[in-house]
Order: sequence, then structure tokens, then C-alpha cells
Amino acid sequence: MTTAEIKEMATEYVMNTYGERDLAFVRGEGPYLWDADGKKYLDFLGGLAVNGLGHCHPNVVAAIREQAGKLLHVSNLYYIEPQAKLAKLLIDNSDLDQCFFCNSGAEANEAAIKLARKYATDRGNPHAHEIITMENSFHGRTMATITATAQTKYHIGFEPMLPGFTYVPFDDLEATQAAVNENTCAILVEAIQSEGGVNVPSEDYIQGLRSICDAHGLLLILDEVQTAMGRLGTFYGYQSYGVVPDVLTMAKSLGGGVPIGAMLAKKHIADSFVPGTHAATFGGNPLVTAAACTSIQTIFDENLAANAIEMGNYLAYEISQLKDKFPIEEVRGKGLLRGLVMSVDAKPLAAKCADNGLITICTNDYVIRFLPPLNITIDHVDEAVAILKKSMVEVF
Ligand SMILES: *Cc1c(COP(=O)(O)O)cnc(C)c1O
Repeated sequence: MTTAEIKEMATEYVMNTYGERDLAFVRGEGPYLWDADGKKYLDFLGGLAVNGLGHCHPNVVAAIREQAGKLLHVSNLYYIEPQAKLAKLLIDNSDLDQCFFCNSGAEANEAAIKLARKYATDRGNPHAHEIITMENSFHGRTMATITATAQTKYHIGFEPMLPGFTYVPFDDLEATQAAVNENTCAILVEAIQSEGGVNVPSEDYIQGLRSICDAHGLLLILDEVQTAMGRLGTFYGYQSYGVVPDVLTMAKSLGGGVPIGAMLAKKHIADSFVPGTHAATFGGNPLVTAAACTSIQTIFDENLAANAIEMGNYLAYEISQLKDKFPIEEVRGKGLLRGLVMSVDAKPLAAKCADNGLITICTNDYVIRFLPPLNITIDHVDEAVAILKKSMVEVF
């Protein structure tokens, strides 16, 4: 089918939650994509941080092929070998003790919210059901996670929101401290706010939240749906802050392209999820956990967290070289989660980049976000920056 034919069919039959789009990709290899009309693109969006290994990494493809021929799905009524192996892999490389598997980031956060409430109840504080979250956060699209997401644009038309969430400004320890009361059970925060505009908190922020949690017996829940799996330069983002959360959520690049989410927790907290309290039919099924095991092993074998730092710094440096000639405010972020902040509307630039063969995304009108695969090389960065520069010349 041509792009036009795909677009016509999708417009007729798929609900219009994503708006009108111009492109339909049909094939990918490494950091490159091809659309239905045969045009090639450099993908610096990486499926919104899902394609950490690029497209169709041979290890992941082989693992999926092998598992698909063996066993696709059973049920969590039975033990699942690749699920157990994945749990061990995630835990051995973390400071947490046990995993719960689900299918997405929102579900991982939903599980964390339920676990925090259950843990408070088990400790004899059933009234302590409030979770403090941050302005400009993003935690998902279920009812609990849009409520946790402190941005009104996600709430409008879906009220009432769930009770039990308190919002404070991001990167504001004083406001957070002031919001704690006897009903608080947890603080939920992203390692870096990505959807919110690539907002990097101060050095001591996550550490400060840890202290507030310790002082008041609260759980620190870190939403690393977008930042885990090496993107910030450490396997989990929290490792670059030197702070250990009580509960950690992840999804996006965990499966190397297949849908899987996970919540990790300390053992004494995980113990609150007793049989019957939480479940996911597809959660951690053989296919996705086999893909995730191989994907993670590849991140370690190919040293991709270190590459994320190197390539991220190079990308940021190369873009900042364009500052004098174009309306660029700053380049912010960490590792391979980077935001190019423009002083003018950046949507036309993102569209021009796509025309010229570079896929990115414009967030919050002024920020071009880059979430490329972690295994890109200097040549890929040079190619991206050349397209970006050409597009800036054409737009400004
Ligand atoms: C994408 C994202 C989510 C939601 O994940 P889904 O898989 O879309 O449900 C939650 N939190 C953060 C930080 C995200 O980036």
C-alpha cells in the first residue's frame, strides 16, 4: 500500500486520538526507517524511546523468532522461564528486590500507585493514600495515571479525577516538604521530565526527595518508563543520581520494541502484593520477556549506556555550535534524552526536519526532543546535525 492508501484507511477506521499524520513507516534497520513510498529517514525519535537498540536489532529478532516457535503465551497461573530470567536480570542490576510485569508504562505506574496504597494500609495507615506528584509530569493515560500527571490538558473532559493526588512544582523541595501531611504515602517523580519538555532537575533534587521520604516514612516512586535501560548513561537513571528509590517503574525500551512494562520494589514493600491483589493477563508473557532478556543483554554486551553518554554529549555539543546563527535558547538533557529549546515555535522546524529525512518530535511548542537509539555512532549524529542545520536554514 502507498502512504496515501494507508492514511485513507486509517482515517476511516482508527479512532482519531493521534491527529492527522503524514508518514507511514513499513521497514526499519538500525537507526533508519523507510516509509511506504520508499523514502529513507534517520530516526532520532526511536519510537518515543522504545527502540533503544534501533530497529530490528538482529539479537532481538532472533530471540523473538526462537521464542515464537516455542511458546508465545501461557498465563501467570504457571511459572514462565524467560519471565523468571528477566526478573533476575533486572534485579541483579538494581538495588531493588522483586518485579511485577505488565504491558506498558501507564500500567507500571498504576501498579506502583496501588502498591503504595496497599503498603500504607498494611502498615496500619489506611488513611495515608495521598501521592505527591510534580507539575509538568507525565505518567500515562489511565484514570489513575492521568490524575498523577499534573497537567490539566490531560484531565479536561475526563473529570472527576481520582482522589488522593497532590501537585507541587517540579524541582521544588520546599513545596514538596510543605505538601506532606499525615495522609501522604508516596512521592512519584520522573528522573528527568521528558514529555514535560526535557526538564532536568537540580543535582540534589532526587536526593532531597529521598530525604523527605525517609523523614516521613514515604515511598519514593521513580518513574523511569522513559529513562531506564541505559538512556541517561547508567542502566537505570537513578544510578546516575546516587539515590535508591523504593519503587521503580519502566517500560518503553525494556522489550527492545515489544510491549512490556515492569515495576520493581524493595522486598518489604513488594510483600504487600499478596496473591489476588494485582495481576495482568499478558504481564511478562514468554514472548515479550524473551525479547527483553536479549535486549538487556545486548545493552550490556555492547556497552550502550556508555555510548549514550558519549553520543549524547557529542550531539549536544554539535547542536550548540549552531547557537549563534539560529534562534536556539539551549540544549538540555542527559545521555540520549536531549531537548533543543528554541526561542520560537519549533513545530515548523520539526516538520522541515522530517521532510529532509530526520525524525524527531516537537514537545511543548518550543522543544525539539531527541530520543535516538543508544547504539548510534558519530556518523549518525553528524548526519542528524547536518539535516537539522539544513532545515534551520530553510525555516529561519
Ligand atoms: C511514556 C511514559 C509513560 C506512559 O507509558 P505508556 O507505555 O504510554 O503507558 C509514563 N511515564 C513516562 C515518564 C513516560 O515517558
